Amino acid sequence: MNYNFFAPQQINFGWGRFQETGDLAASLGTRAFIISGSRSLEASGVIEELRQLLSRASIKSEFIRTISNEPEVMDVDQTTRLLRDLGAGAGDFLIGIGGGSGIDLAKATSAMITNQESETVVDYLEGVGRGLKLTEAPLPLMAIPTTAGTGSEATKNAVISSYAPPFKKSLRAEQMIPDIVLCDPQLACSVPPEITARTGMDAITQLLESYISCRAQPIPQALCLQGLKLAIPALPEAVENGNSRRGREAMAHAALLSGIALANSGLGMSHGVAPALGIHCKISHGLACALMLPATLKANYSVRQQEYAEIYRFLYPEQALSAEQAAESLIDEIQKLNDRIQIPRRLSDVGVSPLQIPALVQSSRGNSMSGNPREIPDEELTQILESLL
Ligand code: NAD
Repeated sequence: MNYNFFAPQQINFGWGRFQETGDLAASLGTRAFIISGSRSLEASGVIEELRQLLSRASIKSEFIRTISNEPEVMDVDQTTRLLRDLGAGAGDFLIGIGGGSGIDLAKATSAMITNQESETVVDYLEGVGRGLKLTEAPLPLMAIPTTAGTGSEATKNAVISSYAPPFKKSLRAEQMIPDIVLCDPQLACSVPPEITARTGMDAITQLLESYISCRAQPIPQALCLQGLKLAIPALPEAVENGNSRRGREAMAHAALLSGIALANSGLGMSHGVAPALGIHCKISHGLACALMLPATLKANYSVRQQEYAEIYRFLYPEQALSAEQAAESLIDEIQKLNDRIQIPRRLSDVGVSPLQIPALVQSSRGNSMSGNPREIPDEELTQILESLL
């Protein structure tokens, strides 16, 4: 065994603990820039409540009204300029509240404020731009997830999109792991069923892909098993009854574990293809992962049958099955889950056309794909995507 393990230094998890935001944030600074990727949080009064909680702890706050979509290069560059104009510096910190989109925008902005060798985040992204490294510590950051999916609250990267030229790439550095994670599962009760389903399948995909990744490690694998055992029964419950405390708690915890796992072990084919589906076909990240997951499990069956069987037996210890039966049952179980929460089975159901396949294959190569347990050559990936049309 030989590994490094990274995780947020402080995780505060619990129903209703959003009320503790002010006290927790006081250790980070005296002025907070609030970045949220969700208009619904503003409309429902959560942002105003956050500002009051901060004010009670004598923390000034500025609400930066930004995106309601997955963050693009221009969102990061504009938000960074705005914070610089507001004099962001020592004593200031950021709060990223929202789904992965808002948290990623906050993570990228906190890094870009202090790293000024280039005006644009493109130059710091993996595989595009000038390949600059972050040399200065980002401004402190508190992450408050309001979807249960990406686990971005616990990871060291922020995913940033561009449509022209088309790419979806990460800004990545160990210092980008948020300083404080405040995870209050109650905040996700307002997430509509369709988004609950898609974001939840992102977490499940991350747990499965980290477990079988070619960079898999023992601590993340233990977390993945725990996360899957919670998430597989909880996701339909959270989709079908958004106020279910049991469903929301289990999913929030599973998503957090999935973030810790992916930050250490990497991912696989679903997460390789998902950015390409986002950029070329405007498919949301969670939906893309969910749709690709059964095909990913099948594509890796020959090299990970034992791991599939381990997972299935951990989930259902009462079933006496051979290794082969258990491994196959895992794939069936995931397909049944997708069907139950109404994830489409076919890429054509979500508007992908055959003409887009070459571009999808080309844009699927990146950090996530490099974690897939076996290499998937272009011709094979083309066949897999064509078979899903
Ligand atoms: P999202 O943040 O885009 O949110 C989806 C929708 O849910 C939005 O319309 C948002 O307004 C709404 N929403 C959020 N919280 C809500 C609430 N409490 N009530 C009602 N509506 C709410 O979706 P996401 O799946 O959480 O994040 C996707 C992004 O995260 C993608 O860009 C993806 O690439 C990225 N990602 C990042 C990492 C990472 O480690 N940094 C990992 C996986 C994915």
